[in-house]
Formats: sequence, structure tokens, C-alpha cells
Amino acid sequence: MLSYHKMKTVLITGSTSGIGLGIAREFAKTRQYNIIFNGLETNGGEIAATIGHEFGIGSMYSGANMLKPEELRQMVNDGVVKFGKIDVLINNAGIQHVSPIEDFPDEKWNAIIGINLTSAFYLSKAVWPGMKERKFGRIINIASAHGLVASEFKSAYVASKHGIVGFTKTLGLEGAPFNITCNAICPGYVKTPLVEKQIADQAKAHNLSESEVVNKVMLMKQAVKEFITVESLGQMALFLASENANTITGTAIPIDGGWNAQ
Ligand code: NAD
Repeated sequence: MLSYHKMKTVLITGSTSGIGLGIAREFAKTRQYNIIFNGLETNGGEIAATIGHEFGIGSMYSGANMLKPEELRQMVNDGVVKFGKIDVLINNAGIQHVSPIEDFPDEKWNAIIGINLTSAFYLSKAVWPGMKERKFGRIINIASAHGLVASEFKSAYVASKHGIVGFTKTLGLEGAPFNITCNAICPGYVKTPLVEKQIADQAKAHNLSESEVVNKVMLMKQAVKEFITVESLGQMALFLASENANTITGTAIPIDGGWNAQ
């Protein structure tokens, strides 16, 4: 096995739940990456230690809050101190709130923009000088099908995800001379705690059963009537992180069961 300092290191925000955790497991399975875990789940340290042990890779956990820039910079510093460098940054942490515009709480708007969009700015800025110096970097933003199209009642989420797609294009251009690529992955619906909450909320709001919400509301826009798997997102992230993906940059790649083909 490679020593921790010879392996690549990936920092994945929001990786103690849902999609981020699924992506982390795909990176762990290759045994070629140290992983910096992050998220607000109270068992984050345990998750990092268990996966590190299971796959024999270096791992650490930071509870940095996406809304606190100084904690984000500290997380990057701690990761560099432990593993020597950060090669891949995956901006994944995100939240949702569904409400008609006239009732949309101001604080929810600010939190969604801060967590889903602005944190990616702070983190990309913090890892950029090291990536530039080593002439290798991969930044992957987990946007959403809602980075490309809208749905009603998701004003802040759709704005944040369209914003991150624009940010991705800009970093793709700026990173090109330094072999830093930046791409967005745009998933359709993935069954994670974020979506399970929406299923329950929508069932109540529309007086439908949870399976009716899944089939009549959520998967209605996907041609493939299945939830997207975290494994497929992890495999796409792994490819984008590879040396072979050096000319793929500034893109927004839908993995959305054909939602955006319509
Ligand atoms: P999730 O709720 O399972 O996980 C979200 C993660 O973000 C958690 O680890 C949580 O602790 C972390 N997080 C939230 N606020 C944070 C904060 N202030 N500071 C630090 N960490 C914070 O949700 P998920 O479905 O896995 O979503 C992950 C990403 O994928 C989000 O950006 C989401 O918008 C996007 N996405 C999800 C779906 C889906 O259907 N689930 C579809 C498209 C895009």
C-alpha cells in the first residue's frame, strides 16, 4: 500500500450523509485516496474512522460549518497538515427548502445560498494555490438537475444550483493553464435524507401517499423512473478526478434519468 503522503487526497463536504457519503465510499474502494470527511452529523468522526479502517486509507473528519469561512479555511489547513495536499475538492454539502416565494423565509434563502453556493467559493479559493503550484487539481461541484432547469417553490435552491453551474464554468476557464479542472454533476432525484424529508412534506401538502408523491410528483420529470444511485455519482466523480479527464472542464453533467433531455 502507498504511504498516506503518496496517495491523493480528496476533501468531500457533506460526506457524513447521503450522496457525499456514497461518493466517499466509491473513492475509498479504490484505496488510492485519503479522504477528508465533513458534515454536521454527530457521528462524523466515527464514520471517517470506520471507512479509513475498512479500506486501509487515511481519513479525517472536520465538522466545519459551510456558513463559517474561517472554519472552512481551517479544514483545508488541517487537511494539508495531515495529508500534505488536497488534490480533489468535492463541494457537495447542501440543503433545501420548499415554499412559494411570498412565504419563503429570508433566513432560509440566505442559508441555502451560503451553504449550496458561497461555501464552494471559499473552499475553491483555499485549495487553489496548492493545486496551481502542483499543476494538478480537480474541483467537482454537486449541483442538481435544478442547476439546469427550474421547478416551482424552490427559488433559493434553483438560484444556488444555477449559480454553482456558472461558478463551475468560470473556474474551468481559470484553471485551464494549471491542469485544474472544474465540473458540476447534476443529479436527478437520489433517495437520501434530504429527499426523504421532501417526500414526507409533499405527501402532507398534497394529501397523497408517499409512493404517490414518488411516482406522480418526483419521478414525473425523469424518463427513467428510478432514483439515481449514489454509486453512479461516485463513479462519475472518480472519473472526473482522474488524470484522463484533464480536458473535461467547465461542464455540467446531468445524471438525471433523461430529465434534461425533454
Ligand atoms: P443530505 O441531507 O443527505 O446530506 C447533506 C450533507 O450536507 C450532510 O452531511 C449535512 O450535514 C451537510 N450539511 C448541511 N448543512 C451544512 C453546513 N452548514 N455545514 C456543513 N455541512 C452541512 O443530502 P444529499 O441529498 O446527500 O445532498 C447532497 C448534495 O446533493 C446537496 O448539494 C444537494 O443539493 C445535492 N442534490 C441532491 C439530490 C437528491 O435528490 N438527494 C439531487 C440533486 C442534487
